[in-house]
Amino acid sequence: MDDGKALIASFCTVNNIGCPPVVQYPADAWPFDACAYYRPTQINICVPKCAAIGTVGRAWSYPGHIIDRTPYGVLAHELGHHIDVLNSTTVDRYRGNFSVELRRQANEPKLTNYCPDDGEWAAEMLRLFITNPDLLRAIRPRTHAALIKRGLKPVHTDGWRSRLAGAPERTIALCARRVDEAATLSPKGSSNG
Ligand SMILES: [Zn+2]
Repeated sequence: MDDGKALIASFCTVNNIGCPPVVQYPADAWPFDACAYYRPTQINICVPKCAAIGTVGRAWSYPGHIIDRTPYGVLAHELGHHIDVLNSTTVDRYRGNFSVELRRQANEPKLTNYCPDDGEWAAEMLRLFITNPDLLRAIRPRTHAALIKRGLKPVHTDGWRSRLAGAPERTIALCARRVDEAATLSPKGSSNG
């Protein structure tokens, strides 16, 4: 949680945007299934409802991983909604035209299963852009390029493996597999426009 708060603050500084306040709630004061939500311009989060760092079984979340429902990833995802709203000229139920146009232009598959609409598609992409930009570049190159083209600057400039230092081997292996798959689908130099 602390690392996530520091990261979103850095991202906002680097990108010259106001960082939304983060308000934490205890589990007994949180009536929702989701562990966080964004309403302009505040991030609300219930840390006990977020995922713990996963090392075994079906717990796959890890900070900076493709799958990351830890507070670190959740804060970055919610900041993604903030960026969407800030960069949109029209906003409908907290989803802006920034997300809609980003998805249409990049035309890449959703990052995770959590993708009920364009706003969540974009928030998940922005999450990885914030937590592990090199991994987004490797597995969703057109989305990464579209974000750079829109003037967004990542905080981290190191490689994706370095971002995942200390992660379980299976986590690194899953990312490496996705990176290989992406390289096969869109070889360097090719473009789908
Ligand atoms: Zn969301």
